[in-house]
Amino acid sequence: MKNQLTLEAFGAAGEVGRSCFVLKDKDRSIALDCGIMLRPKHPSLAPKGVDPIAHTIDAVVLSHAHIDHSGYIPALYHNGFEGEIHTTPPTIDITYVLWEDHLKIEGERHWTAEDMENALFVGHLYKKKFKIVDGVYVTFYQAGHILGAAQTLIDWDGQLILYTGDINDKVTPLFDGFEIPDKEPIDVVITEATNGVRPIPPREKVSKDFKNAVKGAVKRKAKVITPSFAIGRSQELEIVLGDFLDEKVPVYIDGMIRKMNAITNYYIRPEWVSSRVFRYLRKHGLSNPFDRENFIEISRENVNNPFHFRRMLGKTDKPAVILSTSGMMEGGPIHTHLEVHGEKPENILAICGYQAEGTLGREILEGKRKIVVNEFIGKPTKINLQANVETFRFSGHTDINGIKKLIGETKPKKIVIVHSEHEEALKVAQVLTNGVTPVLAEQKQLIPL
Ligand SMILES: [Zn+2]
Repeated sequence: MKNQLTLEAFGAAGEVGRSCFVLKDKDRSIALDCGIMLRPKHPSLAPKGVDPIAHTIDAVVLSHAHIDHSGYIPALYHNGFEGEIHTTPPTIDITYVLWEDHLKIEGERHWTAEDMENALFVGHLYKKKFKIVDGVYVTFYQAGHILGAAQTLIDWDGQLILYTGDINDKVTPLFDGFEIPDKEPIDVVITEATNGVRPIPPREKVSKDFKNAVKGAVKRKAKVITPSFAIGRSQELEIVLGDFLDEKVPVYIDGMIRKMNAITNYYIRPEWVSSRVFRYLRKHGLSNPFDRENFIEISRENVNNPFHFRRMLGKTDKPAVILSTSGMMEGGPIHTHLEVHGEKPENILAICGYQAEGTLGREILEGKRKIVVNEFIGKPTKINLQANVETFRFSGHTDINGIKKLIGETKPKKIVIVHSEHEEALKVAQVLTNGVTPVLAEQKQLIPL
């Protein structure tokens, strides 16, 4: 009897978040990602039902560091997993920063600091095939999503399975979009579909709109407050800003962005980022894109008292750009920046990333202006947001055209849609017309591959 390979989803099936899939046959079992789902104002959710099988998993392959892909891996160790985590070196570094941050925010709810220390990471380059267990080989490909993000091509006894993880088709300052493996036809493609069928404008257009908004604010000596994800979007915006902004205009960098800048700078090497980054560095005579005279990190090493410094910024009438976490305004120093600058109508609140349902960011997008900030540090302050709220559709995920291109070129016999709200996944399935009916992954359902 054939040793049937199956895929089981423990999360990110009909939802975005807590990606966790297990590929297995009767002899071998590999987990693809194992993350948690962050929920605004509620504790995060673990993948459903993976604890009892943790000890049966031979290895984990981690596509990228985002906590909704990596955040539950230490819990696997807690529940008896003893294998290795295969990923890229940048992902290892970013994952540790995110895990430590998660411990600070949520404590040892899912796993302990000791579980984190037990993690056995092995780093691999893109396009270098490696063995995981007997008969199972993996090759990583550039995903274009965040630093170190990889698509995973699995060769399982000759059957080829591509798991996209999170991919972006857009050319961004750091990446040239995701790479399509130039292998023989791929048997199965497991693809994300976060953006559903919504088209995403090209980066050039979005960046240009952002530049124009910043230029306008600088002219009228206003502030641009930009809530930003620590890894990915922040570095992208810093390169966009560095390319046109008058060096007399300060760019304040706040929150976890500083650590992620350091990691990103370390990996500015041809293996990890686009050659365009090197052209940018040469053009501006820089060795580190994030180390510029007008880029000022708000940290204890740099300013005496960050808390005081943030408040003092409100007393100046000089233009400035502020990049601060958190990206969805759920916490972090962005709250103080909102408090200090948000009530002035000349300022801009530039929303440059996805705002999930239930977050303060989404409420503001939907028109809420009387908001409460700094509640999470026990200092709730009501403000009447009067700054101009402007949206710039930078997205870290591919749109439907990218998925169509991937399917068109890899010609899979089976397509599985994951990491997408159910309604959106249905729409994506309807437009992928290549003769194969895509399977929508469902929780705890065994999909034969
Ligand atoms: Zn991601």
